[in-house]
Amino acid sequence: MDFSFTPEQEELRARATDAGMEWRDEAAVWDAENDAPYEKLNERFRDLGLLGLTMPKEYGGKGGTVIDYVIVTSALFRASQSWVCGEPPFCTSGPGPSIVLMAEREETRQKFLPDIVTGKKGCALALSEPAHGSDLTHLETTAVRDGDSYVLNGSKRFITGAIFNDLYAVFARMTDEPGARGIGAIIVEKDTPGFTMNRGPEFVASRGIPHGELYFDNCRVPAENLVVGAGKFADLMTAFNMERMHNSAYSLGFAEAAYDEAAKYAQQRVSFGREIIEFQSSYHMLADMWVQIEAHRLLTYKAAATARDGRFPEGMESTISKLYGATMLPQLTLNAIQLHGGDGVTMDYPVQRIHRESLISLAAGGAPPLLRNTIASRLFPHRRFSQTRS
Ligand SMILES: Cc1cc2nc3c(=O)[nH]c(=O)nc-3n(C[C@H](O)[C@H](O)[C@H](O)COP(=O)(O)OP(=O)(O)OC[C@H]3O[C@@H](n4cnc5c(N)ncnc54)[C@H](O)[C@@H]3O)c2cc1C
Repeated sequence: MDFSFTPEQEELRARATDAGMEWRDEAAVWDAENDAPYEKLNERFRDLGLLGLTMPKEYGGKGGTVIDYVIVTSALFRASQSWVCGEPPFCTSGPGPSIVLMAEREETRQKFLPDIVTGKKGCALALSEPAHGSDLTHLETTAVRDGDSYVLNGSKRFITGAIFNDLYAVFARMTDEPGARGIGAIIVEKDTPGFTMNRGPEFVASRGIPHGELYFDNCRVPAENLVVGAGKFADLMTAFNMERMHNSAYSLGFAEAAYDEAAKYAQQRVSFGREIIEFQSSYHMLADMWVQIEAHRLLTYKAAATARDGRFPEGMESTISKLYGATMLPQLTLNAIQLHGGDGVTMDYPVQRIHRESLISLAAGGAPPLLRNTIASRLFPHRRFSQTRS
């Protein structure tokens, strides 16, 4: 077992770190103004070779591994201290493109993937609905086959990249079968008649790009846009494991960023005539932070190493690493704030923003209780129970 990076992986990490550092100051402004220049960022990352990391070369990707993906995204989060910098790799090689890669017809893959993978067209992932978030198997949006089209009705909320993106991979009910069995996924293009969007609510974190609402009112989509029909929900969720890897890299990068800020502050701030790092409570707090980061790093890379074909990490490992990161990060960033004293609760230090970003890990991509359900049901397969009231 060798835990060290290869020279190529070291180079990738250095490239991503430099890329993240380029945007660190500007990223604070994106957060304050709730507006990020996503196109500009995408172009820069394309020039740096950081798009389509895990996607096959035949569609314009780099043909890399999920480990490459984690190296790049965690380094970007740490260096830029901004979630926005993770979006170009996410949108060009995360769960959205992984789902499109599952399209049953090559024609569909050719129609969409090259533009998605090279960052020419962003593809948002639209699962959550106003009445259904954790209970995805209860989705109400419908996509009904009519001749050579599907007709969509319903709504989605919290969709990252709404308005900004050209494409939307929409999960919808395609048959009358109840639960997960009736759900499939289809791509809806921006400007399709019957499809409207808004920016949605203002978030305390994950700012700069909208997490908006989508509305489908007899929206007619060509049947060739079908990615996966009803009956393959489990396959769709396999691609969703990339979301969990992204969430894990997110927790890793932001935990490191909080540690960096706390370590810097603790070595500069003087109290009772000595730097506060010399008080053992501060000294130990930094040590505890580092141990949590190291544990999470191992879980994240272990999960990434289980990926098949560079894209499909195992459900159990990716869920474990997401859960650990999601529960560790908010507390670790609070400790970083505590080490800053009063400065930590001003808007003058980045640690408040890093802490706000940590809150996203409690919902996006699956809330911790749902992750625990997944893990426990794998540990005790004969004790699985329905979450639905009977
Ligand atoms: C910043 C951000 C970006 C997002 N981006 C996207 C996106 O791009 N696309 C998309 O489709 N969605 C997106 N989401 C939505 C996200 O996936 C949901 O918020 C998440 O799945 C939780 O759903 P919910 O908000 O409806 O909460 P609910 O499902 O209503 O959960 C509320 C609470 O109840 C608990 N709960 C619910 N069911 C159970 C259960 N069975 N057992 C125990 N506890 C339970 C939850 O853990 C939670 O604490 C985003 C969310 C955020 C915050």
